[in-house]
Amino acid sequence: MTFPEVHNQLFINGEWVDGSNEAVEVKNPSTGEVIGKIAQGGTKETAEAIAYAAGAFTSWSTTDPKERASVLHRIGTLIENNLDRLALIMTLEQGKPLSQSKAEVQSSADSFHWSAEEARRLYGRVIPAPNGQHFMTVHQPIGVVGAITPWNFPSNMIARKIAPALAAGCTVVLKPASATPYSALALAELFEEAGLPKGAANIIMGKSSDIGKELTSNDTVKKITFTGSTEVGQILNEQAASTLKKVSMELGGHAPFIVFDDADLDQAVSSLVRAKFRNNGQVCTCPNRIFVQKSVKQAFTEKLLVAMKDVKVGLGIEDETVGPLINEEAREHIEDQIKDATSKGATVLVGGKRPEDTKFANGPFYEPTVLDGVTSDMDIYYIETFGPVIPLIEFDTDDEVAEAANDTEFGLASYFFSKNIARISRFSAALEYGMVGVNSMAISQAETPFGGIKHSGFGRENGEEGIREYVYTKSVCMHD
Ligand code: NAP
Repeated sequence: MTFPEVHNQLFINGEWVDGSNEAVEVKNPSTGEVIGKIAQGGTKETAEAIAYAAGAFTSWSTTDPKERASVLHRIGTLIENNLDRLALIMTLEQGKPLSQSKAEVQSSADSFHWSAEEARRLYGRVIPAPNGQHFMTVHQPIGVVGAITPWNFPSNMIARKIAPALAAGCTVVLKPASATPYSALALAELFEEAGLPKGAANIIMGKSSDIGKELTSNDTVKKITFTGSTEVGQILNEQAASTLKKVSMELGGHAPFIVFDDADLDQAVSSLVRAKFRNNGQVCTCPNRIFVQKSVKQAFTEKLLVAMKDVKVGLGIEDETVGPLINEEAREHIEDQIKDATSKGATVLVGGKRPEDTKFANGPFYEPTVLDGVTSDMDIYYIETFGPVIPLIEFDTDDEVAEAANDTEFGLASYFFSKNIARISRFSAALEYGMVGVNSMAISQAETPFGGIKHSGFGRENGEEGIREYVYTKSVCMHD
């Protein structure tokens, strides 16, 4: 499959420029083939991009909200018009099945359309004041934003940051993940085509620690927004403290998925299989610990094993249920967790090894796996898997599972299945997570706020909260 023509340079102030460091290869994880070479910048190019973004901020921040909204709508529409091309680029550089890439690209378009609408609704408030005085609040764009994004959703993680930042009137310098720069650059091509002013959105590739250091220490940058691992989030948060920036962090997760005895088991099984194997389990909100109540455990497991027969491995382009993992390190991490769990008594019911078909020999593929008898002494119980493994854990009582579900440093997404309204009310409150799905896995859409607590970070993307991450609130107090 030929890789589409996409720019491979840095995008600074509306120009495509080479970086001062040597270009690096990007590979298709399904086949190991090199799909291109990407320019690499560093501290110097990041500082330049920040300066251009600051220049662009002067006019973009004072552009009518309605005009900003129409540029963002144009970007959203261009993304939709280019959906097949953008999805192909994503599948070839990231590995996810083609239909999942299409769904992600559509969600990026949704983020731009949603943020365009929010640009016109960034209301402040009027506060009751003594006679002759007038108190109000207005939301001002915070300034230049530094954004860093991961490889698992190489388009939507960018859209969720750039769209609300631009909607608020901010300008952006973004560093995409090294594994997936083309999806970012293909979006930048559409920014140009939509007429986004030069310098309003800049894309820099290069050594992540150098770019991260410049973004976090440069005083011109007023906001850092990061999605990625908790470890890197902690580093960036510490670095950003020196210049007291506003920060939002979308970090790791370890979602519990609880099946109560009154659940619709067919609904729970089909929801679990769809959510667990989306993007091959490389999703921060992916169910990672599957708690099933003792009285329905056998029936649930039987239905799950039937559903697993339809879960197929394929090259990204073949559009089966799962593609490859992102790299060899990711596969070894999963193998270590399986080895640890089975050595402590867990049983592999399905999968648990690399696929044997020779067409998978050049990529980090792993068979979709069901692991039974998982207990709290196993690594997989506490450590994010980021891969296609369903670990089954049995529980007896509501109190026991509430405690177990919250027994993690993470607090991003959680799910439970029950048809009992009292239980639904109690558990929605009891789960210490930023998001709760009840009989549903659909917790991430443009309309609803997305984000975590505890070591999953802070700040929200999407919803009416999304745009507020890119403004500061100013009080205006007037006298007649
Ligand atoms: P990662 O290693 O933290 O990388 C994320 C981004 O940070 C990449 O662009 C990476 O650049 C960059 N980076 C790495 N080290 C850096 C440093 N010292 N300074 C500045 N930037 C640095 O995470 P990942 O492996 O790509 O993504 C997986 C993690 O992201 C998982 O833990 C997952 O749960 C989390 N995640 C969270 C959410 C959410 O919304 N909460 C969404 C998606 C993923 P390079 O690629 O160049 O190394």
